[in-house]
Amino acid sequence: MKNRFAIKHKAFGLAIVAALLFGCQPTEQQQETPTIGMEQTIQEPDTVQRRPAPKFYVIAPGTERTRVWVCDDNRSDIFHVDNKCELLLNCTGVFKNVSLQRAIEDYGRYNCDKCSQRFADVFDINKVRYDF
Ligand SMILES: [Zn+2]
Repeated sequence: MKNRFAIKHKAFGLAIVAALLFGCQPTEQQQETPTIGMEQTIQEPDTVQRRPAPKFYVIAPGTERTRVWVCDDNRSDIFHVDNKCELLLNCTGVFKNVSLQRAIEDYGRYNCDKCSQRFADVFDINKVRYDF
């Protein structure tokens, strides 16, 4: 008697496992098909995604509090000294006036090639720096 119950119980357990396995598969496959098309359309803007935050930077003493502008959207990776910079005008996010230090450390920004050339040295690992 005991044995028969055990067998029945096992079979019931297997039935649940089988139901879960086979029950899940069709829905997964059904969901995969439409997302393939969506992924392709989403991937395009990814190619112009922002660079990772600068790993190397040296902020010259006395310039860390320089006010700079950042565009807070998910594409911008530069800061601007000039708030009328043409590259800043393309901003579709929120303008923020922050210190140079925050722009680099909190926002992960590099200098703008148009208006912030003088801060290019900040990210130049080969630049010889003098300790004042
Ligand atoms: Zn600029």
